[in-house]
Amino acid sequence: MINYIVYFIGDLSLNSVILILLILFIIFLLFSDILKRSSAMKLSKPIIKTELICVRCGFKYVRNFKEDDFISKTTGEKCERCGGILRIYRIYSMEEKRVK
Ligand SMILES: [Zn+2]
Repeated sequence: MINYIVYFIGDLSLNSVILILLILFIIFLLFSDILKRSSAMKLSKPIIKTELICVRCGFKYVRNFKEDDFISKTTGEKCERCGGILRIYRIYSMEEKRVK
C-alpha cells in the first residue's frame, strides 16, 4: 500500500516535471518571439542624417544628426573643399540597412 503511494507520488512528480518543462518551453517560445520582434524593431529604427551646405561654394556634406542640430544653423564645422562655413540645409531620416 505504501509502495503504491510512493509510486503514485513519484509518477505525479514526473508529470509535474513534464508540466514544468512544457511551461518553460512555452515561456521560451514567447520570449524568443518577443526578442525577434524587438530586434526587428531595432533593424527598422531610422537613422537621422543632417545635410550641410557650404555657404561659399555650395558643397554638400552629410553626417549623422547631432542633438542640437536645426535647419539654417551654422555649426562651426568647416567646408572640406574651401574651408567656408557650413550651414544645415536639411535634416532627414533614413532606414537602417539590414546587415546579414
Ligand atoms: Zn566650400
